[in-house]
Amino acid sequence: MLDASLTEQVKAIKAGDYSATELTRAYLERIAAAQSLNCFISVLADSALAQAKRVDQQLGKRAGKPSGKLEALPLAGAAIAHKDIFCQAGTLSTAGSKMLSNFISPYDATVVSKLSAAGAVTLGKTNLDEFAMGSSNEHSHYGPTLNPWDPSRVPGGSSGGSAAAVAARLCSAATGTDTGGSIRQPAAFCGVTGLKPTYSRVSRWGMIAFGSSLDQAGPMARTAEDCALLLGCMAGVDPNDSTSAQRPVDDYMGQLQVPLAGVRVGRCPEFEQSLDASLAAALEQVAKEMESQGASFTEIQLPNTHLATSCYYLIASAECSANLARYDGVRFGHRCEAPQNLEDLYKRSRSQGFGQEVKNRILAGTFALSKGHYEDYYGKAQQVRRLIKQDFEQVFGQVDLLLAPTTPRTAFRLGELAENAGAMYYQDVFTVPASLAGLPALSLPAGFIDGLPIGAQLIGNYFDEARLLAAAHQVQQNTDWHLALPPQTAASQGGKQQ
Ligand code: GLN
Repeated sequence: MLDASLTEQVKAIKAGDYSATELTRAYLERIAAAQSLNCFISVLADSALAQAKRVDQQLGKRAGKPSGKLEALPLAGAAIAHKDIFCQAGTLSTAGSKMLSNFISPYDATVVSKLSAAGAVTLGKTNLDEFAMGSSNEHSHYGPTLNPWDPSRVPGGSSGGSAAAVAARLCSAATGTDTGGSIRQPAAFCGVTGLKPTYSRVSRWGMIAFGSSLDQAGPMARTAEDCALLLGCMAGVDPNDSTSAQRPVDDYMGQLQVPLAGVRVGRCPEFEQSLDASLAAALEQVAKEMESQGASFTEIQLPNTHLATSCYYLIASAECSANLARYDGVRFGHRCEAPQNLEDLYKRSRSQGFGQEVKNRILAGTFALSKGHYEDYYGKAQQVRRLIKQDFEQVFGQVDLLLAPTTPRTAFRLGELAENAGAMYYQDVFTVPASLAGLPALSLPAGFIDGLPIGAQLIGNYFDEARLLAAAHQVQQNTDWHLALPPQTAASQGGKQQ
């Protein structure tokens, strides 16, 4: 039951093989047994069981065979976890920060309400780098999440709790957010499938803001098929988010069977030239699989991608400095003891409430936006961003998809890059280009090096999520990298081990 994909679990619940309540209970037990991984900031056992009971009632489960609202509940009983950057009414919503360690959200994020309305059960809120700033989960106020494949290693970040929870089979699937790679990089490090949709495809309402021109929510799951089912329920225009796209949501599940035959795939030497040999070999295996199904490959050029990492860190920091100005100790969040005056209140509340990485970015970002420097930094970065976007626009005139690595290496050890911000930022080198351009991109499991998962990245044209998901699904139909279980999980379940 716990080892099945989300899509299979929903089918089983609808067929009456087991109930939403049984699935929820089973995951809650596993979560309790896997506390050492530190995947969750809050576990919502009572509300999850209440939600599951409601789903079972809606399905009209009498004498074992459901007869009620099968169509209306595409996610009936799926037991999911939300990255703790999504607000959920009545629950602690921390963004991994001390600043919000006392924040009980009065409302639901659109993603949360849409998934619940589709029948999903929320098991809990997952750990993340503070305000989603990081690539390792080591910047969480709640301590790092550990990688289920090797607990001495990081799960990636910032959606590391979600990725690790999916990998260790502590939930059917999870939500993540991706500003510069935070869905794709942890998905790669933990051996799961994660999709960052086109910027604006999914509403940002109720998602605690980091970089507003980049932030995007997406699914993290065992399979591309599960991601397709989830995205169909998450996506869509939202009157509460004026940047959400005014276009109909595609039938992602309906298009999964579209074959790879005839699909034109681009590969960019800039992405691959400095790649470690074992990662290059893994990428080659994915390319071979796609080719064997009839995809054709072309070499393409993205001449400005080498500027993407510096451009991203400038823009994301500038936008975070503006977004995080709201945490002033007055309206909500952490407030210092016995403030002497207003300035003292601001200073001490912010100094105490934010961690070091967040402070570094606020300082850098504020400088980049300051009078006299704006044109040189933020303005310049926006120009570079346009060039990067134009490179992709040109390439998508020649090809349908791009294949690229997700990360420059496998999961690193806890503490290994903690003192080296440059090396940490370099982890995003392959994910930030699509983020800056606002393009959809997906990471799928592509094998293992020394027992650690590797991801391959597929980047698509704007709103071409259906093609991305279909391509990944077709690869997953003929490969089994996505089915392997981390050693501990396999041992406790008797499942397939890498
Ligand atoms: N690792 C990147 C950063 O630290 C990306 C984070 C994200 O996508 N939220 O900014």
